[in-house]
Amino acid sequence: MNEKKKGVLSWYFKSNLLYRILIGLVAGALVGIIFGESIVWLNPLGSLLVNLLKMIVMPVILATLVVGAASINPKSLGKVGVKIIVYYMITSAFAVFIGLLMGNIFKPGRNLALSSFAESAGKELVKPKFVDTLLKIIPTNPFGSIASGAVLPVIFFAILLGIAISYLRMSKDERIKKSAQTLFEIFDGLAEAMYLIVNGVLQYAPIGVFALIAVVFGRQGAAAIGPLGTVTIAAFLGYILHVAIVYTLILMISKISPVKFFKAARTPMVTSFVTRSSSGTLPVTMKAIDENLGVSKKVYSFTLPLGATINMDGTAIYQGVCALFIGFAIGMPLSIGQQLTVILTAVLASIGTAGVPGAGAIMLLMVLDSVGLPVVAGSPVAAAYAMILGIDAILDMGRTSVNVTGDMVGTLIVAKSEKMVDESKL
Ligand code: ASP
Repeated sequence: MNEKKKGVLSWYFKSNLLYRILIGLVAGALVGIIFGESIVWLNPLGSLLVNLLKMIVMPVILATLVVGAASINPKSLGKVGVKIIVYYMITSAFAVFIGLLMGNIFKPGRNLALSSFAESAGKELVKPKFVDTLLKIIPTNPFGSIASGAVLPVIFFAILLGIAISYLRMSKDERIKKSAQTLFEIFDGLAEAMYLIVNGVLQYAPIGVFALIAVVFGRQGAAAIGPLGTVTIAAFLGYILHVAIVYTLILMISKISPVKFFKAARTPMVTSFVTRSSSGTLPVTMKAIDENLGVSKKVYSFTLPLGATINMDGTAIYQGVCALFIGFAIGMPLSIGQQLTVILTAVLASIGTAGVPGAGAIMLLMVLDSVGLPVVAGSPVAAAYAMILGIDAILDMGRTSVNVTGDMVGTLIVAKSEKMVDESKL
């Protein structure tokens, strides 16, 4: 008996991790669809994976970013920064465009005529203000930001700390130089230890994935296939087109083989799909871009946490599709002018979106507001919005996976342009 158990376990640990995760994904979807709501008791197994990943996020961001900023000269940090931000903005604009295109082709919600029966929803929704989001980047208490898991303020603080350390390491005063070096090594060691933990956590991933997917499909699968099917199809087709056209072209222009890239990016793509969190996936994304694609830590330690917070191409696509859905659903299709406004606000909204599950749905409120469709309790807009919320988990899986893929593509091409990548791996 014992012998046999050992055999099964060794099969588990020896088989390819990605296949195990994919099996968990497909099996979870099937089990969810078959058993429906009754499967929610699996929830803790899924939360276990999410919590394990989240546990590592803040230490990883802080440690890798301090090390990254301390080892790069401030001038090239600026260059990498400008390049990656430009890339993030441009691809997000393309993404909303694709979302709007899908919405115009599929016209989801056209026959709903929601104007006649308005319902609840929208009561406790508070709209975030963009200026406030920007101001919050500066932490009034860096330790508080680390403790509460606020990514942007921690990025800001870690970069400053890293730059300070890099200057101190060049100091003529031996004592200062030595203590800066010690500090640097402590952060470096912390980052390495975190990566080791990631490896362990990933061994549990297939089981966590199974549970997460089973619960989502058990709760919402039928709705996404049924009445809201067109929204789901339009959004997912948009996600696929963005990855297959925009990312593939960008990689080809940068002379990087898309096949090699997608092979290397599989694990983060799947992990983000099931966890629905760019931030939560960050440790896995960093591991893949480092080990599989050979990008220098100096680049990805900065660009990936930044991307996980401000670069949301999948979310932008989703917002394009959903804004159109809501317009159609209430019998007021968006004009071209309104659609142009959607492009602008969706790009801005995706910057302010946190890399956590469901954040994109909150930012959709800002987009809707900008085209004169505020979500007011009891209004038809609120009813349409509530419908979208009903399948948000499914839409969120696809958009988060695109978000993370976009961060990786950007990081890779910027690293390549700065010659900070191991070309033999590409
Ligand atoms: N869940 C997404 C992410 O983590 C954000 C969103 O809800 O759109 O990237």
